[in-house]
Formats: sequence, structure tokens, C-alpha cells
Amino acid sequence: MSGIETRCVQGGYTPGNGEPRQIPIIQSTTFKYDTSEDMGKLFDLQAEGYFYSRLQNPTCDTVAARICSLEGGSAAMLTGSGQAANFFAVFNIAGAGDHVVASSAIYGGTFNLFAVTMKKMGIDFTFVSPDCTEEELDAAFRPNTKALFGETIANPALCVLDIEMFAKAAHRHGVPLIVDNTFATPVNCRPFEWGADIVTHSTTKYMDGHGSAVGGCIVDSGRFDWDAYAEKYPGLTTPDESYHGIIYTRQFGREKAFITKATSQLMRDLGSVQSPQSAFLLGLGLESLHVRMERHCANAQAVAEFLSGHEKITWVRYCGLKGDPYYERARKYLPKGSCGVVSFGVRGGRKAAETFMKHLKIAAIETHVADARTCCLHPASATHRQMNDEELAAAGVSPDLVRLSVGLESLEDLITDLDQALSAV
Ligand SMILES: *Cc1c(COP(=O)(O)O)cnc(C)c1O
Repeated sequence: MSGIETRCVQGGYTPGNGEPRQIPIIQSTTFKYDTSEDMGKLFDLQAEGYFYSRLQNPTCDTVAARICSLEGGSAAMLTGSGQAANFFAVFNIAGAGDHVVASSAIYGGTFNLFAVTMKKMGIDFTFVSPDCTEEELDAAFRPNTKALFGETIANPALCVLDIEMFAKAAHRHGVPLIVDNTFATPVNCRPFEWGADIVTHSTTKYMDGHGSAVGGCIVDSGRFDWDAYAEKYPGLTTPDESYHGIIYTRQFGREKAFITKATSQLMRDLGSVQSPQSAFLLGLGLESLHVRMERHCANAQAVAEFLSGHEKITWVRYCGLKGDPYYERARKYLPKGSCGVVSFGVRGGRKAAETFMKHLKIAAIETHVADARTCCLHPASATHRQMNDEELAAAGVSPDLVRLSVGLESLEDLITDLDQALSAV
């Protein structure tokens, strides 16, 4: 299965003779066995199979396999949310006393997770500008650094990550690059092709695509050589006492060690599972991802062009616009298009932005992005309200920024709606 379109529609699931054409929803917490011995082997990770849906569920695994195929990875798992995906991806290889380098232009929820909650757990983060030089990036690493983290297209700053440069820096320092690929989706960018090692997603966004189910996913490229840095990653390369001393890299190989550990330790202990029902909805969403992304990008490009020519708009950020600071980088990493999210400033600042948003009829005010319906948000008073002005600036969020997630409605209707709301300002 080579085409990305074919993988969206059929990846991860090939029914046998007489089996359901659509991915079955296995809405069952538990699975039946004939002998305790059979089940014991599963508990010891000596055999593959299902015993409890907190660890693994067939519907979730099938949908994870579809995303794995889309990203070109070696193993994948679903999580209950994008937050859980990013937490697990980092916590799987970093603990108290460790350090992680992250781009400062990331989703507000991820910033809080790293800078506040994981800091309380004893993990230190250094934030670097997504536009830092190689030297500045190198200088952020410490002997106890365990990972480098960034977003392909930052939400909501819309900076495009120089994935290749970040991957090279990570590998110079013997750590994996983790990329949150939520906004681009694997239809528009596959970070593994540029050297990233692990990819995360909030599947809540374009993958689900209809605003119906919160979820996340982690995909491993299977390429990072944990054993080459064994002393840095003891969790993967030394015996796990909670599984009678198995060693993940030895038992599951470089391809499966990371995801197996995240499933059998973190999911077992922290339990942020995606429900089989939600995974089914995600699987449905993935079937049209390639078609929807194309239209999201076309609509967003036209909306961005309309806004940048409007007298009541002071600035527009969309990497598909010539003159955007990320235009060239987007041509390299996102040749087919970026995403449907456009950000801009309304003349008159915060107050004018609020008036504008109040008058929109088609675009609704929501703490959401990336579904079929157009919506908008003022991040400084919502998702990023925990940040002070300095942190806002580092995250690329100005107080007047309006984030518009362009949906799949008629382009003409969208532009008419924006135009009438701007007239009210
Ligand atoms: C929304 C989002 C998240 C968090 O995902 P949830 O599914 O809301 O937990 C993480 N990263 C990015 C880039 C996001 O847009």
C-alpha cells in the first residue's frame, strides 16, 4: 500500500473472507481465556493478545496501525488525548533529574504540561526559539538531556519547524527528536522523512476532523538506537522489574521497544486510554483525511489572501502566503499545503478582535481547531491565558491574535461572513 490516499482509506485493516468491511468496534473491557496459563503469558509479555482494554484493545490497535502506516512508522499506540500522547512520549524516556529541550512555539496545553506539571515531576525544560541558530540549539543541551521536542506547524503561532535542522541537532547530542505533527497531518508532512524519531498527534483535530472525539496517538519510527545510548535510556535497555526483568530493546527490538514500554508501563499505570468507540470515529475520519486536508488548505489560502488585502486587518500569518516568514520553509516541508488555520490581527487590537468575533455568523467561537466547521478563538484570553506577556511573545502569540480555523463550508460564504463581521468593527 504505497499511496497516502490508499493508506488513509484502507491502512491498518485488511478483513479476511466474510469479515466486516468496516473496522469492528470491540467495546469490551476484557477478553476470555481457557486457562490461567494462557493469560499469564500475556501478563509476562511473553505472548501477544488482549486481556484488558486499559492496556490494549483491538479497535484501538487497528486504528493506531492505520496512523502508523500514514506516518511510515514501525509501531504506534492511541491515547485518550493529545495531551496524554505528548506526556507519554516524553515521560517514556525522561524522569526526575532529566532535562528536555523544546521549541517555545508549541501548543499552550503542551507548554503548561512541560513547564508546570512535568517540572513538578522533576523534569527540567529549556525552551528555544523555533528560529534559533544551530549554535543556540546546541547550547540548550545538557548531559542529562533526553529528548528534543517541536511542532511541525505550531498551534497557534503557525511557525514551521526546521525538522531537518532539529533532527540533526538531536542526533548530534544522542537524543531522539519528538515532533507533534497534529496541524500538518501525515498527508501534508511526514516528519520521519526529515529525520524525526517519534511523532505525536492530537487526533482530536484534523484526523477525527468532525469535532467528535478527543484522542491522541504516538508513532515510533523505529530508527532511534536506544542501545547505542544505553546508559541514557535505562528504562528501555535494562531489566523492567515490573515484568520479571524483561529488557524492552532486547525482547522487542528497536522497532517496537518504545511503544511496547509506553503501553505496558505508562498505559498500565496511568490509564489514559482512547475508547474503542472514539477510535472507530477516528478511523472513519482518517478515511477522508486526504480529501479534507486539500480543501481545508485551499479555503485557508483564499481566506488568508482575502484578509491580507483588507484594510481592517493589520497582519496575517499563513505560511502559504508569499512574504510569510515561513513561506520558504513551508515550501520545503509542506509542498502540498500546510493546514486550515490562519492567524491575524484586527486593526484596533483586543477590543476590535472581540467585536469582529461577536459578529461572525458562520464561524463560531470555540476552543477548538481543525474540524469541518469554521471556528475562531482569541488565544490570549483562552488557551494561552496562563502565560505572562513574555511567555506569550516567546510562544508567538500577540494579544491581538485571532486564530481562525477554516472549515469545509463554501468559500464564498466564508468570505462574505468575514467581510460583514469586519464591517462591524
Ligand atoms: C490540541 C493540541 C494538543 C492537545 O491535544 P488534546 O487532544 O486536546 O489533548 C497537542 N498538540 C497540538 C499541536 C494541538 O493542537
